[in-house]
Amino acid sequence: MRTEIIYADSTGDLEWVGEKAADLLAAGEVVALPAETVYGLAADAMNPDAVAKIFAAKERPAHDPLIVHIFNREDLRLVATIPDDIAEVCKKLRDEFWPGALTLVLPKRPEVPDSVTAGLDTVAVRMPADSVFRAVLKAFQGPLAAPSANRFGRISPTSASAVEDELGGRIPMIIDGGACRDGVESTIIKIEAVEGTKPNFHILRSGPVTIEMLKPFGRCKLPGKKGFISTGIEAPGQLDSHYAPTTPLRVIPRPEDFVPEEGKRYALLTLDGGKKSKLMDAAAWDKIEMLSPGAGKLPEAAVRFFHLLRQLDGEGFDEIIAEPMPDHGVGIALNDRLRRAQHGSGSATQNAADE
Ligand code: AMP
Ligand code: MG
Repeated sequence: MRTEIIYADSTGDLEWVGEKAADLLAAGEVVALPAETVYGLAADAMNPDAVAKIFAAKERPAHDPLIVHIFNREDLRLVATIPDDIAEVCKKLRDEFWPGALTLVLPKRPEVPDSVTAGLDTVAVRMPADSVFRAVLKAFQGPLAAPSANRFGRISPTSASAVEDELGGRIPMIIDGGACRDGVESTIIKIEAVEGTKPNFHILRSGPVTIEMLKPFGRCKLPGKKGFISTGIEAPGQLDSHYAPTTPLRVIPRPEDFVPEEGKRYALLTLDGGKKSKLMDAAAWDKIEMLSPGAGKLPEAAVRFFHLLRQLDGEGFDEIIAEPMPDHGVGIALNDRLRRAQHGSGSATQNAADE
């Protein structure tokens, strides 16, 4: 299949781009498009045949549910129901964070195909902020299911060229809208009402909407920590092996634990390379990539994270050594991605064995 690439920069005609994509989507096709998080692969969320094409192009297993994207807050009712005991906090969260990178897991409406939710009785929904994504949603006039536009388990794409590497020849259209504003996938939460006090937010995936930002509205419960209730889904976004480079990757929290082997070529992925980075002197690095040179700013690191990981993966090193990020803000999401990347890194066979 020939993959058409169309450009959608801020000076362009977004309405035209939206309509071109919407025509394909209405015909049951898939379209790759930018989001403020990472590039997504979109299809009509209410059309099971179209949704099946997402799973086929990505080679994604059917047990991994998709996120549904809506144009405005009211459209939430097309795909989800809101239990009375969380209605108030849901409204507050939507007012505060939508459009944006917060995904809510809510009871699903029967109209949503089971393939979108992997048979679960809940659906994950968000309202994206990216202007290109919004132009497509506006023209299409319906909810779009869209996971990240990469082959299953691989590094998420944050540019149109990364999407082309992943899915070129498998999908009919990629919209190139430039780099992604946030750079990591949305924060996913499930809300649990608690009698007489603030609700609990179970953080199913950490992302650009941070715990610090969510705190005023509820108590955040992280996986593995006290009070976290697993949804029981075996979804790879929540599995150990994901976002994986083919080059082996290791996260080294204590520099003294890294002993380079003779003759091997190592790359270092560090936050800032400055005083805080103790790994800088631990080896004769073949390459050093800094996520936020000098400044060490986490939002900047997030924007560059998948791009640099993908780049290093293509340069034939024996191993990528990564430094853990500070454990606050979007650093929590980056550490989550690094941990899963380490688990799945190396080879496809290793991934399969681990899962
Ligand atoms: P992606 O669309 O690739 O960014 O990832 C979608 C992820 O959203 C899945 O891998 C799950 O982790 C999560 N997800 C989607 N739907 C649900 C749901 N109903 N309950 C819990 N998590 C979900
Ligand atoms: Mg993904």
